[in-house]
Amino acid sequence: MLSNNPFTEEAIEVPSNNSEELLQSFNFQKENQKKWAETPLKERLSYIEKFSEELNKREEELAKILTKEMGKPFKESLNEIRGARSRIKFFLKNSEESLSPRDYSRPGLGEEIHFEPLGVIGNISAWNYPYLIGVNVFIPALICGNCVVYKPSEFTSLTGLEIQKIFNDVGLPPYAFQVAIGGKDVGELLLKLPLDGVFFTGSYKTGAFIHNQVSPKLIPVGLELGGKDPLYVTDDLDDISQVAEAACEGVFYNNGQSCCSVERIYVHEKVYKEFLEKFKKSAEGLKTGDPMGPETTQGPLTRKDHVSYLEGQVQDALSKGAEVVFRGEAPPKKGYFFPPTVLKNVNHKMEIMKEESFGPIIGIQCVSNDEEAIQLMNDTSYGLTSSVFSKDERRGRDILSQINSGTGYLNCCDRVSPYLPWSGRKNSGLGSTLSFLGIQAFCQPKAYHIKST
Ligand code: NAD
Repeated sequence: MLSNNPFTEEAIEVPSNNSEELLQSFNFQKENQKKWAETPLKERLSYIEKFSEELNKREEELAKILTKEMGKPFKESLNEIRGARSRIKFFLKNSEESLSPRDYSRPGLGEEIHFEPLGVIGNISAWNYPYLIGVNVFIPALICGNCVVYKPSEFTSLTGLEIQKIFNDVGLPPYAFQVAIGGKDVGELLLKLPLDGVFFTGSYKTGAFIHNQVSPKLIPVGLELGGKDPLYVTDDLDDISQVAEAACEGVFYNNGQSCCSVERIYVHEKVYKEFLEKFKKSAEGLKTGDPMGPETTQGPLTRKDHVSYLEGQVQDALSKGAEVVFRGEAPPKKGYFFPPTVLKNVNHKMEIMKEESFGPIIGIQCVSNDEEAIQLMNDTSYGLTSSVFSKDERRGRDILSQINSGTGYLNCCDRVSPYLPWSGRKNSGLGSTLSFLGIQAFCQPKAYHIKST
């Protein structure tokens, strides 16, 4: 299978798995899953701990591989691996409590809830944060006693193979975790296997297809999908520079290729002009170039075809009256670069305010009051995150409570905490990862009614 280094455009060749290999591997996992489930929890946790230690030891080498195949700046690749380790720490610390049986017994009648693993689960994943979104699924799934077949995106196959290698090196039994390499076709083959659960991270289009394919099997399906995440700047803030800086980071980090990137900004008319100036100033600090360069904040995009997709959104907006506030210079050499682009005078007739961009472009729209902001923030088919900046906590909470998204941010954006559920509403997904909910998601409850004779 071929993908490309998005900076040098050199081919990266990784052979895909065929259907026979997938079936063989699945049968091996299925035959041994009970053995894994019966392995004491402490022992299962110790493999995960060793996995995390290896991530730490190999972080430089792993970060280089990730940057090579996906194009994010090397320092952000390192950040991602470190972030994944802190999520693993959360799972190591909190799984035992989340999985311990609940006992509601009273004299003469035992009533208990036990958490049992699902079996062999499939994890079909995306390329934008392969470590972070990977560990959200395969770590708690393994801890719960499931075996996992993990399909990394075709754009991060090398990282997927490294993850498999680390699990092998720390002695995890091979039936517990198997990687499946390939693209859409391999994903579709996996869906044909009699899996006991499917957990997917990726686009709405693929998520809806997977949901459709899997629904007759009546097995648990988790979907972490796209977003069109809004950020609203109210008129009561003392320091607009700080807000502009935070918003700029939320838009451009990972080249905007995050499910929770800020995708549209609304600004109260009283501070609109000032915000545009400050935002432009922050955007001028972005450095596009070689992702291995220490100063680089913007590497190339991961996918070549996304360059023309983003240009399409920009041209659509300009043709409908938007104006450019800022456009970075694209380096004149090879690579799938797109210049960071900031537009003003945008509205909801433009694709840039309605369709997921997943790139370094942003529209900033002026609003006259909170009601208008709330109406526009909700005018989307997505519902992942929403952000409000206000120094009045009550006002901020009140606005957030009226937005239909799984996450609300007050005076921050584009962040994930392992303590809190990560869940999308509407076309942004189904179910939760992270938090105790994202541990129990990989289990099926069993109710015991125990009467003494
Ligand atoms: P994608 O849907 O193109 O691909 C995701 C995975 O699905 C890949 O492994 C791909 O090979 C596989 N796949 C594609 N077609 C398939 C099919 N017909 N059957 C089975 N598998 C198939 O998404 P992507 O480009 O990898 O990721 C970008 C998207 O992911 C964005 O929309 C982004 O917002 C979303 N995302 C969401 C979250 C979240 O937590 N909500 C996190 C990261 C990314």
